[in-house]
Formats: sequence, C-alpha cells, structure tokens
Amino acid sequence: MKLHEVSLQEAITLLRSKRASSVELVNVFLERIKKYNPKLHAFITVRDEQEIIAEATKADQERAKGSDRLLLGIPIVLKDNFLTQGLRTTAASKVLDDYIPQYDATAVSRLKNAGAIILGKTNLDAWGHGSSGEHTEYGITRNPYDYERVTGGSSSGSGAAVASDLCIAATGTDTGGSNRQPASYCNLVGLKPTYGRVSRYGIIAMASTTDSIGHLTKRVWDSAAILSVTAGNDPLDATSSTEPVQQYHERLADKGRVKIGIPKEFFEGLETKLVTKVLQALDVLKARGHRLIEISLPNVKYAYAIYCVTVSSEVSSNLARFDGIRYGFPRQRFQDEAKRRIMIGTHSLSAGYADQYYKRAIAGRTLLIREFEEAFQKVDLIAGPVFPFPPFKHGEREKDPLKMYLSDVLTVPANLTGHPAISVPIGFVDNLPNGLQLIAPHFSETRLFRVSLEVEQELRMYERKPRLKQ
Ligand code: GLN
Repeated sequence: MKLHEVSLQEAITLLRSKRASSVELVNVFLERIKKYNPKLHAFITVRDEQEIIAEATKADQERAKGSDRLLLGIPIVLKDNFLTQGLRTTAASKVLDDYIPQYDATAVSRLKNAGAIILGKTNLDAWGHGSSGEHTEYGITRNPYDYERVTGGSSSGSGAAVASDLCIAATGTDTGGSNRQPASYCNLVGLKPTYGRVSRYGIIAMASTTDSIGHLTKRVWDSAAILSVTAGNDPLDATSSTEPVQQYHERLADKGRVKIGIPKEFFEGLETKLVTKVLQALDVLKARGHRLIEISLPNVKYAYAIYCVTVSSEVSSNLARFDGIRYGFPRQRFQDEAKRRIMIGTHSLSAGYADQYYKRAIAGRTLLIREFEEAFQKVDLIAGPVFPFPPFKHGEREKDPLKMYLSDVLTVPANLTGHPAISVPIGFVDNLPNGLQLIAPHFSETRLFRVSLEVEQELRMYERKPRLKQ
C-alpha cells in the first residue's frame, strides 16, 4: 500500500512501529496537495509548509521519547468553519475573507492535544448552506471520482481532501446532512454524532439546535477513534452533554445482532438503481444475522419543511452578528443563499407570522422526535439511503434552490431529532459512489460504528480509489 492511501488506523500502526515517520507523512500529503488541489479546490487555506514540517519533526521526537498520544503526528484537515487560532477562518464567505480567530474551537484544541497536525482549512458551501459544494466563494469543489460532478455538501472540501488522499481525515459540521452527504458522494465514512456529543464552541454557528460536530474518514475505525478524542462535555458549551464518553474505537469487536428498521418513506420516488444498491447492502447485514423490519415514519414527509423554517430562523439570528461593525466585511458581501435564508428566517420569526411558521415548525419537530422515539422502542437502528439521487453535475441544481433543497430530505430528520447518524460506503451506481445511512438512538454511536464496520468488512469499498487529474 502507498503511504498516502493509509487509513488512520494504519497510519497509527506505522508510526508506532517506526515504519514511517510523521515527517514522511506530512511531506507526502503536502506534495499531493500541491499537485491535485488546484483542480479539486478542496482547500481554502493550506498552512505554511515549514510550520507543518516543524510540528511533524517535534511529533517524531516526542514519539521517540515514548509518548503515544492517539493522534500524535497524524495529518488532518479542518472544515473552514472551525475557528483556528492565528489561522484564517472564512466559512467560505468573503464576509470573513481576512478573519483570523483569536482562539481554537474546542474540537480543534482536543484534536491538537491528541497530537494531530493541521494541514489546512477545507472548502464548504458558504456558512454551511448547501448540499453540493457549489455555494462557496473559493472555487467549486470537484468530486474526485468525476470532476464534472459535485462532492456533496456542505463539507465538500473535507470530502474531496480525504477521498483524494490529501490527508488522513477531516472534520466537518452536520446541520442537515453535511458530513453524511459528501461522505456518500466521495466513498467515505461520514459521522454526525448525537446533538451535544461534541462541543460546538468555536464553530461558526449555522443553526444552533441542529449543528453537530463530526468528521469524514476513510474507514469506520478511524471515525470511532476521532470521536473518542472530540466527544465530551465542555464548560464553554452549555448544550454539550455530560453523558460519559467511550473509547469508541476499542468497542467495535462485539458482534451483537440488531433489529434494523427500514422506513418505507425513505425510498419513495428514488431511482431504482439506487434503491437496489441500498437494498443489496441491507441484505449483507441480513446475511450476517441482523433482522430487517419494515417500518413507517409518516411525519418524515414534513421533515424538510420543518427544517427549512427552524434552520432558517436560527440562521437569520446567527448571521446577525456579521454586521460589518464588530468584525467581518459589510453585509453586502453575503451571497444569494445566505440572503435567502436570512429573509426566510426573519419572516418566519416576525410578529404576525411566527405562529403560522416558526411555532408550527417547532410543534412538527416535536411530533417527529416522538415518532423516532417510538420507532426506537421497536428497532435498534434505522437505515436508508443518504441522498435521494447519485452525484449530480455541477450547475444541475444550483440555479433552482428548491431542487437543491430536495437533496436533504433523507438527512435532515436525524438533525431535527438529534439522533446520531452515519454514512458508510456501499458501492457505485454508474461509476459514482453512494452511502448507506444508519441512524441510532441518542448516544448509541458505538452501535452505529459496529454495524457500519460489518458493511465495510463485507463490501470493502475503501479499496476503490479515484483516478485523479492534474
Ligand atoms: N444541505 C443542508 C442545507 O443546506 C445541510 C447543511 C449542513 O448540514 N450544514 O441546509
């Protein structure tokens, strides 16, 4: 295996056994970033090369002295809505083009404390608004498996960077699907943990009641290991949970059989080829002894409407701080998508309309949460596709916001209910990657990882690498 192709688990093994050094690893990725990023647009900012090499040298010295921090010397990248002290953070909007944060997000400081080395900041749909990576102001991200198609969004650069082996792993935020979607379209594992599992402190807020901080990785073990580092209560985020954190990556061996609910609503109107792919993956789980049970979640058909109103309301409030007075450039620099959401949100919250829109959406959300809770009385996991269609071409949906919003119908329910969810690679339709989505009860990430690992072991999709262009 080539050094740049290693998973996190393999990289840790190589470093521990001294068969590779952190300096070698970062050099390999820095070379590849130079070679492939100009076309892929995975990064908005790449850190200074000398600083990265100096950190890798220090990590190697520390390891030689016996230190074994989990991520010591591991090169990772961060979505550009994670605040990084002294390193530009734009959220892919020119409003923040020259913004240099004064402090690190909690997730970033935890990753650094575990020894990770940050290579740079990755592209996204500006402010997290989008499902394709096209709403960025720093060059549209290309799908490594087909440069004419989208990566999925909003963590588009994180998806492209990991899938093209420009790093070992990447962080992302998932407010309505933004880690699962690019994972699905880039043949990766994408995690949205339980709401409150990972601190939101220092993340540029999109929608405060659904923002979940996760990551994109090559393999399931990698995803579990990174969550073991980032999860946990944070006094700086009152919504972060005090639920005990597990060493998720050390708990993958248990092969307990589970009941998997398949909501029929998740398959309505989908392309036959995609349905077949998802059903094949579910058959793999059945063959391994898990039980598949058809269930119904009738309120899922309202999920996008509920999401649109609640999330836009929160967006309008969160973006109010970028007023061009305290920091950031003037508000005129907001692009159409942000303006659209600010207007929908402000309208939904305004006197005379709040009862009709915002309050009804909140009531609908409660019904949806109850429906999922009832389903989890009967089943251990819920499964379905991630996207309702395979990766689409650039420009195909961008001009029609409603068409773009439809991309999110299958991912937003787990954000509204706060449940943890994952996308795991299941194979290619017309040479384009797709994922299986698994949703678990609150704080049952271990169950998600265990079952995803079985899919991974059986289908081995991580072996299928993209052919990159220069
Ligand atoms: N695609 C969704 C949206 O546009 C979700 C974005 C996200 O998760 N950040 O709102």
